[in-house]
Amino acid sequence: MDFELTEEQQMIRKMAHDFAEKEIAPIAQETDAEGKFPWEIIRKMAALGFLGLPFPEEYGGAGADNVSLALVMEEIARVCGSTAITLDAHTSLCCEPIYLFGTEAQKQEYLPKLCSGEWIGAFGLTEPGAGSDAGATKTRAVREGDQWVINGQKCFITNGSIADVVIITAVTDPGRGTRGISSFIIEKGTPGFRPGRDEEKMGLKGSITSELFFEDCRIPAENLLGRENEGFKQFLVTLDGGRIAIAAMALGLAQGAFERALAYSKERVQFGQPICNFQAIQWMLADMATELDAARLLVYRAAWLKDRGLPFTKEAAMAKLFTSEMAERVCYKAIQIHGGYGYTKEYEVERMYRDQRLCAIGEGTSEIQRLVIARQLLR
Ligand SMILES: Cc1cc2nc3c(=O)[nH]c(=O)nc-3n(C[C@H](O)[C@H](O)[C@H](O)COP(=O)(O)OP(=O)(O)OC[C@H]3O[C@@H](n4cnc5c(N)ncnc54)[C@H](O)[C@@H]3O)c2cc1C
Repeated sequence: MDFELTEEQQMIRKMAHDFAEKEIAPIAQETDAEGKFPWEIIRKMAALGFLGLPFPEEYGGAGADNVSLALVMEEIARVCGSTAITLDAHTSLCCEPIYLFGTEAQKQEYLPKLCSGEWIGAFGLTEPGAGSDAGATKTRAVREGDQWVINGQKCFITNGSIADVVIITAVTDPGRGTRGISSFIIEKGTPGFRPGRDEEKMGLKGSITSELFFEDCRIPAENLLGRENEGFKQFLVTLDGGRIAIAAMALGLAQGAFERALAYSKERVQFGQPICNFQAIQWMLADMATELDAARLLVYRAAWLKDRGLPFTKEAAMAKLFTSEMAERVCYKAIQIHGGYGYTKEYEVERMYRDQRLCAIGEGTSEIQRLVIARQLLR
């Protein structure tokens, strides 16, 4: 058993760490406070190859592995959750299904633009009546000649209103339940496709979360992604991978909060001594560090399995379940260690606590992760 990262993985992690510290950290509080989408950062991340990290160079990707993607997600989330979720939706939820299920022509058409950051991507699965039960999709696609006509609505779509391309699911064969759902590639500006409002959120305020509407939206027949009626299977596979990325995001947020709490505990003096001298604080720090380590092993293992082409559905769900709930506990303690100051906007742990909350909801709630794990156990 080898717990060492490869030289390339270490190099990518260092690059992401240095970039996050130098470019993202200084503006992370402002990104949150002003709810400002970090365009400049996204462009710079594109130049570093982060927007197409795990995809082959022939499609404009960086040719790195999924462990590297997890490392980058972790390092970015360590300073800014909004930037991390933007990257997650673009890479793991939009580029990945095109790469996995697209025709050669679709890959050549879309991946280079997405990997270079010329285009931003999104993934539209959730609808007002279809959240955890994503198979209850109502959005409908009807074939008319050499076109598909799409009608329906999506909600909570990360990058939705700014995306140049969005992968959506729609019912193509209503009598067949989850076997009658297909995926489609929709480009911004297609007549009949329009974004609705962006959500006002508790956290991740610098990221964009939108409604999308389709009203007699006509797209060419070749914009069907993969095979007809295989959309349900495709999004299950896509979400397996996405869960590793969102687990890595939760890990990074918790790591960031831990580091801030550790530093603060050495500076803050009460009863004539730094609060880190008190056993109550030390035990919190010890528990935080232990949980972070356990989560990190789960996240890297899931990514490692994916890189080897081994089954990873259960492991990705375990990584997401444990890490997102661990992030809640660690960020809670980080605020506790900061006392009243941790409850103010002056200290970053307040933002991290809000940002991490999404990780136990998006890409499948904790309850759905338990369901996925139990199904794998009982197979
Ligand atoms: C900031 C943000 C970004 C998002 N980004 C995207 C995106 O890019 N693309 C996209 O498609 N979606 C996105 N989502 C949607 C997200 O994936 C859904 O919110 C999530 O899957 C839960 O669906 P829901 O909100 O409808 O909750 P519901 O499904 O209504 O769940 C409500 C509660 O019931 C529980 N529950 C439901 N079914 C079961 C069951 N069978 N057993 C036990 N408990 C159950 C849930 O766990 C939850 O506690 C995003 C959401 C947010 C908040």
